[in-house]
Amino acid sequence: MRAMNLLFRGRASVIYSDVKGHQVYASAEWISHSLSNPPADLEAIRSPCIALRIPRVLLLGAYDRVPRREIRFSRRNIYLRDGHLCQYCGRVYREEELNLDHVVPRDVGGKTSWENIVTACVRCNSRKANRLPEQAGMTLRRVPAKPKWRLVVASSLSTDEAEVWKEFLEVTPSGQLPWRA
Ligand SMILES: [Zn+2]
Repeated sequence: MRAMNLLFRGRASVIYSDVKGHQVYASAEWISHSLSNPPADLEAIRSPCIALRIPRVLLLGAYDRVPRREIRFSRRNIYLRDGHLCQYCGRVYREEELNLDHVVPRDVGGKTSWENIVTACVRCNSRKANRLPEQAGMTLRRVPAKPKWRLVVASSLSTDEAEVWKEFLEVTPSGQLPWRA
């Protein structure tokens, strides 16, 4: 299966959604996740020693040739890009403890774009307030940029599941997901 190939060549990660929110897994982490959360038969790829959970949504690296769509500019995708890491204090937070920060404040012409929006914890966000990072004595961990990855969605997504992933995906006017693996 192509998706698994990409995963194990380190060219893709899995996004998995459950009650705790969305998590991103690399291949080794996905194996241990599959071991601790054994999949139902229909959701598994079996080999003699392991039943691996079939991923529903993959993040793809920039270099693969699978057709891809633009990643949607959304709160969740910004958190994903930044690894749920506050770009000022460098700590990892849960989604509900995070905010989006305009690096250059909107008041002085800062755009709402991949290049000017970063993940910030509530505390850093209010400390920085309406200032440039240097005015607030804060430093960005990384220069924000548009992610190079894209999303690929398994063809077996049900309507309910598609709803869960809507936040991550560009949706065409007909309401269909743009591309299915
Ligand atoms: Zn912070």
